[in-house]
Amino acid sequence: MVCFFPADPALWPRFPFFMENVLILGTGCAGLTAAIYTARANLNPLVLEGTQPGGQLTTTSEVENFPGFPEGVDGFELMDRLRRQAARFGARFASDRIERVDFSGPVKILRSAAHSYETRAVIIATGASPRFLGVPGEREMFGGKGVTTCATCDGSFYRGQEVAVVGGGDSACEEALFLTRFCAKIYLVHRRGELRASAIMAKRTLENPKIVPVWNTLIERIIEDAKGHVRGLALKNAQTGAASELPVSGVFVAIGHLPNTGAFKGVLPLDELGYFQAGPGSRVSTPIAGVYVAGDCADHVFRQAVTAAGMGCEAAIEAERWLAEHEG
Ligand code: NAP
Repeated sequence: MVCFFPADPALWPRFPFFMENVLILGTGCAGLTAAIYTARANLNPLVLEGTQPGGQLTTTSEVENFPGFPEGVDGFELMDRLRRQAARFGARFASDRIERVDFSGPVKILRSAAHSYETRAVIIATGASPRFLGVPGEREMFGGKGVTTCATCDGSFYRGQEVAVVGGGDSACEEALFLTRFCAKIYLVHRRGELRASAIMAKRTLENPKIVPVWNTLIERIIEDAKGHVRGLALKNAQTGAASELPVSGVFVAIGHLPNTGAFKGVLPLDELGYFQAGPGSRVSTPIAGVYVAGDCADHVFRQAVTAAGMGCEAAIEAERWLAEHEG
């Protein structure tokens, strides 16, 4: 059933729903860690998983840098373990996507297309989604077949190989520099003739002998081999229109992320890139008491599974303390 709500939250119908202690939005590392902590604190959290249950890690084949897994762990399995750990302590899960919120009163009201949720505290861990080029072959070979958005996660699979990083910002430079540890050569394919990255990152990148910039170049298509894996890029010079091919076995798309914060625009402070602005004095609190943010939707600097988990823990502990202080 689809319900349409009027724009003014005061006119939203009130349903006799159970009042939640804590509603957690998102089932990536931040959301699930918050679920583990709030569940163990007997807060009986309800966790909403959106369009990508398990978050970005479920698109990664192997995670080698999450503490506690010396042999590495499959991204999907890691998220499944976190989910089961949260469920073991009583976290409840539902599949829904919040579209509108009213945080004006002591009871926080959150609406999806079909449901209304009332809660005393909210932890928003909606993550960020990598931007994609939108060229043929990209989606088809994403996640295990040569197209990836995370050098930290997947770089070591390309040991001794020639790969391409797409983009000209700090992320692209960071990815390219990280890949120099493993790869024989990294082509940095950028659509303009100069980097957008900060001066220090640009200098470090361009001075690295393993990184070869490919300027003013657009990607037309990602080319597959007979097994459906990446074997190269079909390129077009942005100035001359000349077509060429670049043989690479991996493509790291690093053209930025889009934080999943749209439903909270005008309600919670966002920075110029659209990420939640937490604080002051806390990485996870917001100006609205009882509303917390965690993980990649509030962090465009570290963006690691373990840092997201850390923020989820912080948000859970802050929420738990706030609820205890405002009992009843
Ligand atoms: P960004 O600064 O927005 O850079 C995105 C890059 O991708 C730009 O060079 C852009 O080209 C290119 N691009 C965008 N859409 C494209 C498309 N459709 N096709 C081809 N190229 C495309 O994103 P970011 O690098 O992820 O950085 C985001 C923010 O996080 C920045 O403020 C950055 O400083 C920060 N950050 C900091 C660090 C660090 O300090 N270590 C690391 C990562 C990120 P144009 O240049 O032509 O627009």
